[in-house]
Amino acid sequence: MRPMLDVDRRSSRVPFLDLSPMTEEVRDEIAGRWQELLLTGGFIGGEAVTRFEEEWARYCGTDEAVGVGNGTDALHLSLRALGIGPGDEVIVPANTFVATAEAVVLAGASPRFVDVDPGSLLVTAEGIEAAATPRTRAVVVVHLYGQMPDMDRIAATAKRLGLHLVEDAAQAHGATWGARRAGSYGVAGCFSFYPGKNLGAYGDAGAVVTSDAGLAATLRSLRDHGRAGGGHYEHARLGTNSRLDALQAVVLSAKLRRLDAWNEARRECVALYRELFDEEAARYVHQLPGGQPVHHLAVVQVPHRSHLRAALSASGVATGIHYPTPCHRAEPFRGYPGRDAPVAERAAEHILSLPLYPHMTAAEVERVAGEVNSVSSRSPDL
Ligand SMILES: *Cc1c(COP(=O)(O)O)cnc(C)c1O
Repeated sequence: MRPMLDVDRRSSRVPFLDLSPMTEEVRDEIAGRWQELLLTGGFIGGEAVTRFEEEWARYCGTDEAVGVGNGTDALHLSLRALGIGPGDEVIVPANTFVATAEAVVLAGASPRFVDVDPGSLLVTAEGIEAAATPRTRAVVVVHLYGQMPDMDRIAATAKRLGLHLVEDAAQAHGATWGARRAGSYGVAGCFSFYPGKNLGAYGDAGAVVTSDAGLAATLRSLRDHGRAGGGHYEHARLGTNSRLDALQAVVLSAKLRRLDAWNEARRECVALYRELFDEEAARYVHQLPGGQPVHHLAVVQVPHRSHLRAALSASGVATGIHYPTPCHRAEPFRGYPGRDAPVAERAAEHILSLPLYPHMTAAEVERVAGEVNSVSSRSPDL
């Protein structure tokens, strides 16, 4: 099925991401609850934060959620709470956002990069097994683009190797593998609520979900200057300041009630994209049969990316690249082991992220797919 493009559609612009319709849906509810907070002045902690933590844990299927300042801190503090530090190695995928590896270095440990599967661009149990050394203490699995890898096999491998399994679920709010949600497989599931994520705050925010009560208690202490024991000036350990504030918690509670519907809308857009693409024009990242992704990003692999990207831009279609430099090649991570990741390196030259957001219309998806197909059919053979 090839869509017919009329003149109006061709001249309209398609943004990469449009948050405003989501903001509009929750505007009145949030305004009302923010007004209450302004009157009481309870900006840090309090009932709004506790309520969101309970809701988020229930949604993810874990006993607890600990709100923190952002997704990077969720990862970094989880590793510290697990006792990971200098001399330890943590396996991370070569294909991820830098924050995954940053968190490992911030905890004082070394990242060990592992290559990804060429279809899904996610880590595999085999890759983790091959990368582990006697110094490896943990693996951070990244549910990149909103899709979980085979978590049954990865969890079994991590268990056999004696590695802590941590999930970087910053792009996977609500994704599942089997009957379980992102964040509930590992000892710690780390989320970012950066505004552009599937569940996004109105600023920076994050959370760790866990069913390990001891780990949750350590995280609550670490996020709050190492406080423990109840006294305001009782500091049991070196902590930091990384708290989820009440204004953001209110936003997240309101948006959480719409998350499933918004994720479903993303899935419908992606199903249409996949139906419309000509096979030689764009290959959507492989969808693994064991889970249900939430499509944080719509990523295709294309033969002539710079040509296509320029043509799309000229016709008003915004695109992105996630990520132009594979993580292990980024400047801060020179010198860490496991720098050979040919699949991630090759993918970095061919991946293109297309517009995707819950309120994207079928006409917009058709317009983007139509442009991709028609530009590709006119591409020079390189
Ligand atoms: C966004 C993101 C993070 C970091 O989250 P922040 O809230 O920006 O600190 C970590 N990992 C991945 C995969 C992300 O996409």
